[in-house]
Amino acid sequence: YHPSDGTISYTTLSRFPPVKFLPPSERKRILVTGGAGFVGSHLVDRLMMLGHEVTVLDNFFTGSRTTVNHWVGHPNFEMVRHDVVEPFMIECDQIYHLACPASPPHYQYNAVKTIKTSFMGTLNMLGLAKRTKARFLISSTSEVYGDPEVHPQPEDYWGHVNPIGIRACYDEGKRVAETLTYGYHRQDNVDVRVVRIFNTYGPRMNPYDGRVVSNFIIQALKGEDLTVYGDGTQTRSFQYVHDLIDGMIALMNSSETRPVNIGNTDEFTIGEFAEVVAEVVAKVQKEDGIEVAPVKIVYKPLPGDDPQRRRPDTTRAKEVLGWQPRWSVRMGVEEMVRYYKAKMAQGAL
Ligand code: NAD
Ligand code: UDP
Ligand code: UDP
Repeated sequence: YHPSDGTISYTTLSRFPPVKFLPPSERKRILVTGGAGFVGSHLVDRLMMLGHEVTVLDNFFTGSRTTVNHWVGHPNFEMVRHDVVEPFMIECDQIYHLACPASPPHYQYNAVKTIKTSFMGTLNMLGLAKRTKARFLISSTSEVYGDPEVHPQPEDYWGHVNPIGIRACYDEGKRVAETLTYGYHRQDNVDVRVVRIFNTYGPRMNPYDGRVVSNFIIQALKGEDLTVYGDGTQTRSFQYVHDLIDGMIALMNSSETRPVNIGNTDEFTIGEFAEVVAEVVAKVQKEDGIEVAPVKIVYKPLPGDDPQRRRPDTTRAKEVLGWQPRWSVRMGVEEMVRYYKAKMAQGAL
């Protein structure tokens, strides 16, 4: 922070991570909805460190204050408890609209609320973008492609979604949110960006939110059996959260208004991924001098409408943003294993 601002002493700020000084002409007022969630909190960290003013809007349904606690009290940071289903007024230059539960157990817990969040929440944030002329970025998802018949999935694939299945509240919610976004773009000239995010993992992911990466790591660390749903032949491509944040910020600051896939292109069957996690956990434990018995795999029923395969075609992100992932799955999983181990040592898991 700029030391010439006489009202703020260095000691007041020394408890915060360092932030870059930006002259007021470059410093943006940025609203991050869902900023207390897993992805949102990493985005907030990066935007704060870049020197911007960040307001987090979150109802703490799946997120938590603790993810952004280290910024509370910083003059560039503000946190507002608010549900995006209700209108909200603020003046800002950019909006990253992430508010929406993302894990299947969470978004299926109250399917109607999930649809309301996607539809009414996005409507309100687009209304806000229209009034303030802020640039608007929505976090969409690879789920708009459903159980894809085209592989890997490019942005011009229209998808294969069951509109009445148990995942529909999320998939169709995001599809209509994209439709609204392009409606405001065409009708009201709202400056929009759409990122289609593929499976993402990393520190601060809720360990009990039921997603495969957190489940497998926690199970392996506790010496429990890894739960593979179905026969484990379905595939996913997992990206580390820092790569995603690079892509989101690059997209926001580009001139690309078409949807852009951001995801890792290394594809694993869930069975292979279970082995990767088991190996990485064994490696980390061995380095820490801990003997572990080999973990076993147990097979559980496959949830309804579970996509058979998923891998992004990231040609567009490479061409228009110069973006490509830098974290291999083994590197990312190792970081996450160490993060969960540290939490366990603190008794926080
Ligand atoms: P998350 O559940 O950790 O974060 C979502 C945040 O939104 C939470 O802090 C939650 O409290 C908040 N929220 C939910 N409903 C809200 C409401 N009505 N009003 C205000 N706040 C609300 O999930 P995440 O993994 O961080 O996902 C963030 C965004 O990225 C979501 O839009 C999700 O659809 C998208 N996404 C994530 C992934 C992934 O693999 N993590 C993949 C594709 C898309
Ligand atoms: N909205 C909001 N904050 C604003 C501006 C609008 O939450 O700063 C909401 C508004 O209440 C409405 C939605 O965004 O529900 C869409 O706004 P728009 O102006 O496009 O539509 P209208 O209000 O004309 O229906
Ligand atoms: N999955 C699994 N075991 C688990 C959790 C999930 O085999 O403990 C499977 C799940 O059925 C899906 C894949 O792993 O095929 C990814 O699941 P996740 O919920 O992480 O993400 P999504 O299905 O939304 O891609």
